[in-house]
Amino acid sequence: MSTHATISAGGSAGAVLTIDLAAIAANYQILRERLPTATASAVVKADAYGLGAMKVAPALYAAGCRHFFVAHLEEALTLRPLLPTDAELFVLHGPLPGTEAEFVAEGVIPVLNSLAQVQGWGALAAARGRMLPAFLQVDTGMARLGLAADELAVLAAAPERLAGIELRYVMSHLACAEVQDHPANAAQLDRFNQARALLPPAPASLANSSGIFLGPAYHFDLVRPGAALYGVAPVAGVANPMRPVIRLQGRVIQLRGVAPGTPVGYGATWRADGSPRRIATVAVGYADGFLRSLGNRGTAYVDEWALPVVGMVSMDTITLDASAVPAERLTPGSLVDLIGPANPVDMLAGEAQTIGYEILTNLGHRYARHYIGG
Ligand SMILES: *Cc1c(COP(=O)(O)O)cnc(C)c1O
Repeated sequence: MSTHATISAGGSAGAVLTIDLAAIAANYQILRERLPTATASAVVKADAYGLGAMKVAPALYAAGCRHFFVAHLEEALTLRPLLPTDAELFVLHGPLPGTEAEFVAEGVIPVLNSLAQVQGWGALAAARGRMLPAFLQVDTGMARLGLAADELAVLAAAPERLAGIELRYVMSHLACAEVQDHPANAAQLDRFNQARALLPPAPASLANSSGIFLGPAYHFDLVRPGAALYGVAPVAGVANPMRPVIRLQGRVIQLRGVAPGTPVGYGATWRADGSPRRIATVAVGYADGFLRSLGNRGTAYVDEWALPVVGMVSMDTITLDASAVPAERLTPGSLVDLIGPANPVDMLAGEAQTIGYEILTNLGHRYARHYIGG
């Protein structure tokens, strides 16, 4: 990712967010290469994890992706006109009662998560006198979405409840896949295979990003990566095989020297001690998704120099201890890496005591967004 292209961009914004669409396409290929036979979809819910689904989904289509998942019907309706007709859009939450006809009208395919959703979709198929496609989700150990064991038993005993429904895939979702040796993974795989045996034969889908790295037994016919496409590490505790996708550069708006004992920020939670320090105020705050938990914890970078966040995160600003950086390297208007080559998204997430997913989906809308590699 080139620095020079971005320095000049967004000169009036408090920060520049560079999103590398070529890196997303490369990550799609990296995941595909791990699949002996399965197809790779892309999960582009929540505005492609905050990166901009309107740009990201067409870039993934160009990379060969034809299956896209979103959470809400609304998200699918936004994307539908941007993707060619051979791209399929699947809605993870399924139809809210009364919205079934809108799915059909817009050519969007639901994931059916309950007997009630199966019933609603089947009723519309009967009314239209034709088969309607859908995913059927079974819960295998997350108790979030999908048919519970008792609902599955009802369906197994009365398969006519699926009349009119073209079962595109039977799916489930893993709860602990990023921890490779977690016993829940094998338990969910077993339950998924048992559930499939109770249902009419259909292709299957189980793995999210992390699930892909659990090996071919977890791949089935379609995998559903999200986070890994966007550069988040899919496997806990090992080097991240994915390419970094974003760089977030905050702009310095003021520099000051502070004497020992000087409190910095709300609540006076940090004081320069021992020696005078140089404080850089950067125009990014919690209103931009720079989480408040990063107060006195986060680290920004200028080249190889680490600049610790000192004091609390304000709504529109953070304060960094820039004492280590040569004075001429940092002046008002300079950019510092809040997420970059030295501090990838997972590192910032660790400092914030959260996960990369939450960092990405909180990325602010005051940033000058700069797409490269498209
Ligand atoms: C969000 C989601 C995914 C993608 O998960 P990642 O961990 O981001 O790869 C896949 N399947 C379902 C059902 C999801 O809700």
